[in-house]
Amino acid sequence: MSFTDLGLSAPILAAIAEKGYDTPSPIQAQAIPAVLEGKDVMAAAQTGTGKTAGFTLPLLELLSKGQRAQNNQVRALVLTPTRELAAQISESVTTYGKNLPLSSTVVFGGVKINPQMLKLRKGVDILVATPGRLLDLYNQNAMRFNHLEVLILDEADRMLDMGFINDIRKIQRLLPKRRQNLMFSATFSDEIRDLAKTMVHNPVEISVSPRNTTAEKVEQIIYSVDKKKKSPLLIKLIKDNDWQQVLVFTRTKHGANKLTRDLEAKGINAAAIHGNKSQGARTKALANFKNGSVNILVATDIAARGLDIDQLPQVVNFDLPNVAEDYVHRIGRTGRAGASGHAVSLVAGDEIKLLNEIQNLIQQELERKIDDEFAPVNMLEDSRTLRPLKAKKPKKPKNPKVEHQDGQRSGDNARGHKPTGKNKKHTGGRSSSPATSPNANSGQRRRINPVSR
Ligand code: AMP
Repeated sequence: MSFTDLGLSAPILAAIAEKGYDTPSPIQAQAIPAVLEGKDVMAAAQTGTGKTAGFTLPLLELLSKGQRAQNNQVRALVLTPTRELAAQISESVTTYGKNLPLSSTVVFGGVKINPQMLKLRKGVDILVATPGRLLDLYNQNAMRFNHLEVLILDEADRMLDMGFINDIRKIQRLLPKRRQNLMFSATFSDEIRDLAKTMVHNPVEISVSPRNTTAEKVEQIIYSVDKKKKSPLLIKLIKDNDWQQVLVFTRTKHGANKLTRDLEAKGINAAAIHGNKSQGARTKALANFKNGSVNILVATDIAARGLDIDQLPQVVNFDLPNVAEDYVHRIGRTGRAGASGHAVSLVAGDEIKLLNEIQNLIQQELERKIDDEFAPVNMLEDSRTLRPLKAKKPKKPKNPKVEHQDGQRSGDNARGHKPTGKNKKHTGGRSSSPATSPNANSGQRRRINPVSR
């Protein structure tokens, strides 16, 4: 099959050809015709499957046939959980739509709101947004949705993980009832299905990768190592294997910073990317990683979500994630678009429980190695025998890891947010504390609960 068979018009085909794509990926082959027919779509697809083009191309096609956006109006809204993902989708919209007379813009928190308001004044055909900033802008009358034709919810599972469910519901209520809805999610938990019931109608269901399985082409290895030896072992692995581009995951922001310092102290070019970094710092770190001037990007799960880095050869789990599904997302960063990849996890003795959960989720026992120089004192116990996956609601982590830094609204409009964590008293809204003041949006963002990620 080629793109010409999918019902896309010449300006879009030219943009795709320029990008060098010749064959639609499986999600594109299924989603594009369905979206063009005006159907609602519910697609299970991980990052790396080409899902962005899967919804952007037919969206551009549909919108190019209608009337351009009027002042303040938005014709299609793409909601994403993180700023990075929003920026990447917006870039794709610009690239694929370059030969069309359609307008688009992207809005997210952490940067000034006024320039975003100005861009919305004349109306936009496609708006890519994180939920919090979108609500902020709406509350300031920056845009209207009377003419909204299509709603796209990308990475819906991560939206829920990040605590955006109330914002999503609020946004849904602002939109016209008659509209086309597209929902994308890496996994389809029961919670996602509940949300889908309120959003999509008779959807075309598409699944391009079996639920919770890791990419087949990714070679996955575990190094059993003591916690204190993880840094030196990683440095050794980077040097011995001459790794040039590695995405390293840590569980916490503090851990990301510390590891970056350790790597730099050994002459390795590294940068950290996490929720405490300013938008400028994150964009710069990602650009430097892409252009090769930074070899190691150390990231937390939330910050890394949605990063589009072509054919990343190597992913390292410096810590195992607290939530087993995150392992699948992390591994999804490598072996993309048909390329083979490697994933190495450094696992300390006290992470056996997390390892067991991951292995059970992916239904695979991972190959273990020990580096002679860093043989662990605290040995990793044997893995638990794999149990068949039960079709039940996934367990919530004890402390919901909600940081709300990305699509979070500024303090002014945060009332109505359901408080989470230990301190159930809402401290948003009009509180004058620096942690909740409207200015907390830039750089120092508000922490809803004490878990640092
Ligand atoms: P996504 O899953 O949307 O993040 O896309 C993953 C990567 O695949 C991106 O770098 C895209 O540029 C690339 N891509 C998307 N569609 C195609 C295609 N049909 N052929 C080759 N590469 C593609």
